[in-house]
Amino acid sequence: MAALPRITVLGSLNMDLVAYVSHHPAPGETMTADKFATSTGGKGANQAVACAKLSRPRPSSSSSSSGTAATTTTAHVGMVGCVGDDSYGALLRGNLARHGVDVSGVDARAGLKTGVALIVVDAPSGENRIILSPEANHAVLPDDAAVAGIFLEPESTKKPDLLIMQLEIPLATVLAALARAREAGVAVLLNPAPAQPLPAAAYAGLAHLVVNETEAALLGGVADSASLVPSVDAEKVPAALRAVARAFVAKGVRNVVATLGSHGVFFLTADGRSGLVPAEKVAAVVDTTAAGDTFVGAYALEAVAAAAAGREFDVEAAVRKANRAAARTVERAGAQDSIPWRDELV
Ligand code: ADP
Repeated sequence: MAALPRITVLGSLNMDLVAYVSHHPAPGETMTADKFATSTGGKGANQAVACAKLSRPRPSSSSSSSGTAATTTTAHVGMVGCVGDDSYGALLRGNLARHGVDVSGVDARAGLKTGVALIVVDAPSGENRIILSPEANHAVLPDDAAVAGIFLEPESTKKPDLLIMQLEIPLATVLAALARAREAGVAVLLNPAPAQPLPAAAYAGLAHLVVNETEAALLGGVADSASLVPSVDAEKVPAALRAVARAFVAKGVRNVVATLGSHGVFFLTADGRSGLVPAEKVAAVVDTTAAGDTFVGAYALEAVAAAAAGREFDVEAAVRKANRAAARTVERAGAQDSIPWRDELV
């Protein structure tokens, strides 16, 4: 049997601690929350879970052994990152493993805490206030064995067919990984979130850049991100969006993909193909958390499947499939739990 395509996600793992309140507390105010919830998160971990869930059917309750997953999955998904040596770290690693992600590259660092996101949701308006404390995510450094190991090719395994990164770990680590990936011939999907300015070299030879309108605006030097979003009835790609995408291609990106929420997805390739793919219609928007991460996972699986089959990558088809997967996530509450399994997409 041919080896499975390999996807490695180098990125963040966070524990989300969410309090639902009737109003945001005033300075000095102590208040009682209506509800409290914890969930596993971090863009890196979410995207790894998305790749894993979308590459295999929902495990039946009787199939507890990993043997079943190994025979039905379409990709090997590995995560590289850092948690602390605390209970949140164990929970995050355990949850990734439960979904079939290889966690041998997730280091539990002695003396460090696991990253947390403190989220306060004003229940009446749904407005979030979020404090992100990166903790162990800041300890993911370019020369860590697991980071360097991504680009080595031990006999027992092989280099990833696709490396996925975001910007919730130190920028120096992401930039070093981009440079090494170029040298090693490893394709990279960069989802530059949260947005921060990047040096021009970051784009050179980049296979896939997946941005939302906020990230496209910041990286593209556009003051008003709303100017990048098509108006609902016009269904025309704003000139500013096309110009930003062209600028990314000019810097060396092969496939630029801009997700615009319910307004669809614009893509532009280095060989000049472009289009605006409508978002899927959803029954009801329940919770958009992890929609972007689901999109990235589904798109990434299409990219490695094309490479494994030796066929040309069809960006538009990948975007359609990713829209379908992300729409399912939008219809359900939660982060990693709301991401669909492969068999939930048909
Ligand atoms: P982010 O969450 O990173 O800001 P988007 O808001 O663009 O990213 O959402 C990512 C993807 O999720 C979209 O491209 C689309 O496929 C899907 N999506 C988000 N909101 C909706 C919606 N209201 N209806 C249908 N699909 C949606």
